[in-house]
Amino acid sequence: MTVSRRTTRLAAAIEATRAELYPLEKLPVHHREAIARAVAQDWPPPKWMRVGCAEIPNRAWHEWHWARGRFPGFGRRDDIPRAVRNAVIERDGYVCGICTLDVEPADVHLDHVIPYSKGGPHTIDNLRVTHSVCNMRKGAKFDGS
Ligand SMILES: [Zn+2]
Repeated sequence: MTVSRRTTRLAAAIEATRAELYPLEKLPVHHREAIARAVAQDWPPPKWMRVGCAEIPNRAWHEWHWARGRFPGFGRRDDIPRAVRNAVIERDGYVCGICTLDVEPADVHLDHVIPYSKGGPHTIDNLRVTHSVCNMRKGAKFDGS
């Protein structure tokens, strides 16, 4: 995988994620300034923010990584909600959607039919059971497109 292709995929994934988030320019000025200050620092801000008795994801943490071309968690299977994962396995059984052979439960990967990097969502319709190897081969193929 070349650096430029990886960068392109990351940029697309970051764009897709940003599009789903509340636009930065609509945030109150003091909030935007706080994010800008956090992004300018050498170390990442906390990932979670305490609001009252709840913890919410800290936007500044995401912006800090994105500003450096990083996208932590990108492509990780635990990004897919457990209920969605279970529903896909229930529908497909332990059968690979790419090579059609049986899959060991411990080897199950969920493949995005429309790749995640191209905006494919983590939905039951867009996911299928595959072997880890089959899924990674497909991923490698999509790098060049
Ligand atoms: Zn397979």
